[in-house]
Amino acid sequence: MIAIKNVRKVFGEGQNQLHALDDVTLTVERGEIFGVVGPSGAGKSTLIRCVNMLEKPTSGSIKVNGIEMTTLTNQELRKARQRMGMIFQHFNLLSSRTVAENVAFPLEIAGYDKPVLEKRVKELLELVDLSEKISAYPAQLSGGQKQRVGIARALATRPDILLSDEATSALDPQTTISILNLLKELNRTLGLTILLITHEMEVVRQICDRVAVLKNGKILELGTLNELVAQPGSYIAKSLFPSEETMLVHPGAVGVTIYFVGDAADQPIIASLVRKFDLDVNILGGSIQNVGNNRIGRLQVEMIGHQTSQALDYLRNLGLRLEVI
Ligand code: ADP
Ligand code: MG
Repeated sequence: MIAIKNVRKVFGEGQNQLHALDDVTLTVERGEIFGVVGPSGAGKSTLIRCVNMLEKPTSGSIKVNGIEMTTLTNQELRKARQRMGMIFQHFNLLSSRTVAENVAFPLEIAGYDKPVLEKRVKELLELVDLSEKISAYPAQLSGGQKQRVGIARALATRPDILLSDEATSALDPQTTISILNLLKELNRTLGLTILLITHEMEVVRQICDRVAVLKNGKILELGTLNELVAQPGSYIAKSLFPSEETMLVHPGAVGVTIYFVGDAADQPIIASLVRKFDLDVNILGGSIQNVGNNRIGRLQVEMIGHQTSQALDYLRNLGLRLEVI
């Protein structure tokens, strides 16, 4: 659906050269919600702007629905962009236009007849649950309502891809959840593919199927959240379990951090350890996070006994990721 291959973007020249994207390769599958997460300045906006050619990559290839974007003529590009909607952190609404007129904007550009256009605008406002604000101006709306207008406008020409650049970063946590739920619902009901960039781990945790970590223009990690969180020391694991405290392990004991994903979180692992290997097990810390429909947990324990190495093998054989102190 979106295939980004060896993309580089260099801003400036000579001494002032800046590699905003440094050999980025990733593929977003049809119907997927793909998150790109990373700190400010990582190159996230540049990446998403390269997908719809608001920014032209210095080198590399970007294919959307099989079409190479980097070599399109302006006219072809306008057509290709109708297959992609985009939403922004600050909504980018036109303040002198009503809600209806904002949503109608891309339809006017695409040359829709007035009756068809008006019907489509009503449909879109229903879709984002904002019908009662059809005649309001942006200044009369809350942040969440503004973003709903932004979403309706982005979907006006029935794109199959939605590009989202920090769409919830200006919203409070409650409103963020309602917008993320809306995106998830549109993903499910319309089969909308979503490429979403954010600096907020919470956003990724709530709706992304897969995620890439971008830093200094490079992809450091890429996979499902389950895969990444189970990699001790990964950016994703550290962000989801931020309060990494130093484990104080008693002399003679073996300290281990156990990462649980999905079904493993429901198994009576500690009881098995005690029973099978005749160990004393002390719990030193831990937490569980809901990630999408999954539970992901981290448990820090110390084990005392003669069969600690067998116990570690047992845990590994259960498919758990371990970090032994
Ligand atoms: P992010 O969205 O992850 O915060 P950006 O993609 O906006 O990061 O920026 C990545 C880097 O590229 C930053 O160092 C930024 O200053 C630089 N940059 C972005 N756009 C331009 C531009 N048009 N001209 C020069 N430098 C830019
Ligand atoms: Mg940005």
